Amino acid sequence: MSILRIAEDARLKEGASRIDRVLVRVGRATGVMTDSLRFSFEYARAEFPAATGAELLVEETPVGGRCAKCAASFTVEERFVFKCPLCGSEDFSITSGNELDVLELEVN
Ligand SMILES: [Zn+2]
Repeated sequence: MSILRIAEDARLKEGASRIDRVLVRVGRATGVMTDSLRFSFEYARAEFPAATGAELLVEETPVGGRCAKCAASFTVEERFVFKCPLCGSEDFSITSGNELDVLELEVN
């Protein structure tokens, strides 16, 4: 699992002995569910002894876009955007919601 791989690399770089906390940012458009992320994190911890007690914090980011027609920036509650919620145009670009990043790591 790449999140723990990133955390493990950071731990080694810092010369720390354990991973305490990992904060990840997950965009809703990725389709990654927080629950399944937690589940696989817990499962994958077995491969990383330094992460046995690690806590996973998940920050979900909504799907956002910018409309090319009305120039509005918007965010929606849904996982997908099919049209601009303000003017209904289908000419827009997605500006957030596709991220899957490790934001913060706490190692000790
Ligand atoms: Zn629009």
